[in-house]
Amino acid sequence: VPLVVTDFLDRAVQLYAQKTAVIDGNWRLTYTDVYHRVQQLSRGLKALQIEKGDKVAYLAPNSTEMYEGFYGVFQVGGVMTPLNTRLTPDDYIFILNHSESKVLFVDITLYERVKEIRDQLETVHTIIVHGMDEDRGQDIAYEPWLASFSEEEIEREPLEETDIASLLYTSGTTGNPKGVMLSHRSNYLHALTTMHHLRVSDQDTLIHILPMFHVNGWGSPFYYTANGATQVMQRQMDPAEIFKKIEAEGVTVAHMAPTVLNMLLEHDALSDAPLKLTQDVRVVIAGSAPPPAFVKRVEEDLGWEFIQVYGMTEISPLITTSQINTEVADKSKEEKQRLKAKTGYAMIGSNVRVVDEDGSDVPWDGASIGEIVTRSNNVMEGYWKNPEATNETIKNGYLHTGDMANVDSDGYIEIVDRKKDVIISGGENISSIEVEGCLYEHPDVREAAVISAPHEKWGEVPHAIVVLREGSEVTEEDLMNFARENMAKFKAPKGISFMEELPKTASGKIQKVQLRKPFWEESG
Ligand code: ATP
Ligand code: MG
Repeated sequence: VPLVVTDFLDRAVQLYAQKTAVIDGNWRLTYTDVYHRVQQLSRGLKALQIEKGDKVAYLAPNSTEMYEGFYGVFQVGGVMTPLNTRLTPDDYIFILNHSESKVLFVDITLYERVKEIRDQLETVHTIIVHGMDEDRGQDIAYEPWLASFSEEEIEREPLEETDIASLLYTSGTTGNPKGVMLSHRSNYLHALTTMHHLRVSDQDTLIHILPMFHVNGWGSPFYYTANGATQVMQRQMDPAEIFKKIEAEGVTVAHMAPTVLNMLLEHDALSDAPLKLTQDVRVVIAGSAPPPAFVKRVEEDLGWEFIQVYGMTEISPLITTSQINTEVADKSKEEKQRLKAKTGYAMIGSNVRVVDEDGSDVPWDGASIGEIVTRSNNVMEGYWKNPEATNETIKNGYLHTGDMANVDSDGYIEIVDRKKDVIISGGENISSIEVEGCLYEHPDVREAAVISAPHEKWGEVPHAIVVLREGSEVTEEDLMNFARENMAKFKAPKGISFMEELPKTASGKIQKVQLRKPFWEESG
């Protein structure tokens, strides 16, 4: 029996037919409701001639329509191609044409952007708008269109487990986004592994905060559905609303990026009456390394369980977790919090190693640095229409992550930096993440990004770009002194600039490429 992800909704509708599957604003749908809508959607796609292997693009926030889109597309053998909602028009043109998408579903709030570029779309023949009441020109209004098709179970397209289920574009943090082909099998096995490590069950209510269009949010509609959990759709990043929903819906688990967690922590600290939530929430952090101080604040200020996971688009995405296992259970609370801020150890099903340039494992001494490489069923089939990049990334059977890390004696991997972000100063490797961690200890620092700036004598030096908390009067001098007192002198930033806001990808990652640019352009 091939491992295909449509199984997950089949299980949920069989076992949890009348249970609330989706909460989206005032909308509450049971698994049966969702299943019916998915049949209608699949019929609609067939009517639009979508066949096995065809790409169907989605440009939408977390929503019922986006969620049902997954299963509707898979049932007809289509390839789900989600677009990041914060890209530029040029990016959309590039991705839609590059992926050869045939149909584009777009949320009404993003419709204007599509109208601007429609003339330049080479393969998209139909645009369907979520939340629009009636058709406009040749564009189709989603609800009336959906309602015109029968809810009866549709005859499925037979699928092989090696068929491509999704074409996800990477964040573009380090360059142009690349299209990652993930098979049904990869998505399926990733879901099984992850649901085990995150202890997902039918008792769970998840709030979808991480965008589903990005790979970290992408996996969760599989494993929460498979378990018949309830899923709350969060369309916007509004901390007050997020807190309210967590309380009102009895949310047990939330996936988010550190930047969003920071927003929640800020909100809680700033509001007159900090929210004391009674229920236990597991907060799953993915996408970039949070400073260790976050773990403490999550556990002690919010009273939530902190779980960090690591991965990348190319591996479905998750391969490690830093939860406390019995091997380290007798350590102090502080030491455990330090461990939880690390990238962690391999989840079941993934072989994860940290290797030097020769491909040998680095010693587990917490200091020696190498690149994280992995081998597992999670690994992508390759980059779409880019075999050169595929061959550069998958070598000798291992996928090379481009993330540099050390391993401590307990086997916890800690990412020290991206290969491309490490600052090489006078022959020493400085981790930008480590320097940021130190700056975050300063009470006035809201956000910090450390990059390499050119330097005559040292080649490169660390430079920090800082966003201060509102009302703060801290100066460059104050922060430089603070840094020099709290870390090795050669690691302390040699300059600090202030910004109101840092440039970020839609998944909330700071775009250091952009921050670096002006420094390196000036020096030529
Ligand atoms: P691009 O590949 O286009 O430059 P990207 O690498 O940011 O963009 P993603 O696949 O979305 O695209 O992100 C994967 C990367 O995110 C990882 O390689 C790693 O650098 C970082 N990352 C993910 N989770 C964590 C984590 N828990 N801790 C530290 N870094 C993380
Ligand atoms: Mg990457």
